[in-house]
Amino acid sequence: FLTGKTALVTGSTSGIGLAYAKALAAEGANVVINGFGDAAAIEAERAGLEQASGAGARYSGHDLTKVDQIEAMMAEAADAFGGVDILINNAGVQHVAPVEAFPLDKWDLIIALNLTAAFHTTRLALPHMKERRWGRIIQTASAHSLVASPFKSAYVTAKHGLAGFTKTVALEAATFGITANCISPGYVWTPLVENQIPDTMKARGMTREQVINDVLLAGQPTKEFVTAEQVAAIALFLCGDAAAQITGANLSVDGGWTAG
Ligand code: NAD
Repeated sequence: FLTGKTALVTGSTSGIGLAYAKALAAEGANVVINGFGDAAAIEAERAGLEQASGAGARYSGHDLTKVDQIEAMMAEAADAFGGVDILINNAGVQHVAPVEAFPLDKWDLIIALNLTAAFHTTRLALPHMKERRWGRIIQTASAHSLVASPFKSAYVTAKHGLAGFTKTVALEAATFGITANCISPGYVWTPLVENQIPDTMKARGMTREQVINDVLLAGQPTKEFVTAEQVAAIALFLCGDAAAQITGANLSVDGGWTAG
């Protein structure tokens, strides 16, 4: 149902972003994927997306902590496909440390990538969406856009900011057929989660099993990880006509985490 539409998903060489790209391609959208990783593996994913969609798939390796690179990525997408109709701001990183020991470069990186990049992609995508009088802006926020956890100050700050930004965009774009929403997962088993286990073990003096059961899944009442495919299914729903009146919302997919 997305034939003729173009989707750009930031941070989509891995994890949740790649699941979004696959779901959108399966519905016939052109897709632009972005992120870092092994060149051959990324090219294989890109080719697979193109085959699945029967439309176009491009890869942009731009670093979204830099505004000129975000501008270049958005310009390339517009040149290739005429403009971005579905924007999914998903690129994000995490760092786990107490506030007083939080590395300054990590704070700046997380605010730049998890929050400011979404402002830049959105401001650059909106004119085309307004012209078309159709658009979908979807953020991968997090349960941490609604509640906090210790040792994740930059991430919690960025994600709360992203939720506020999204509500503002929803209001500004409301009469243009454009919706803006957050999807807020609890713990999804991806490299981002796997990579924070060693630091959490250090910060809390725990074993790997303790971190998984007593930290990661402690707040997730279902005691199961969310899957990337479950998150992507919500994005697809938000792209459809049935979701045309859902805007400014923050949709939790967190196994009940934020209910408690
Ligand atoms: P991931 O590490 O698998 O993927 C992150 C992606 O971002 C990768 O494609 C990576 O190459 C890309 N990236 C990193 N730095 C970049 C940069 N400077 N410029 C462009 N791309 C960059 O992580 P994930 O778990 O799939 O996370 C995706 C999003 O979901 C993040 O915003 C994260 O905060 C959010 N999220 C994840 C979970 C979870 O449990 N995994 C839960 C809630 C929210």
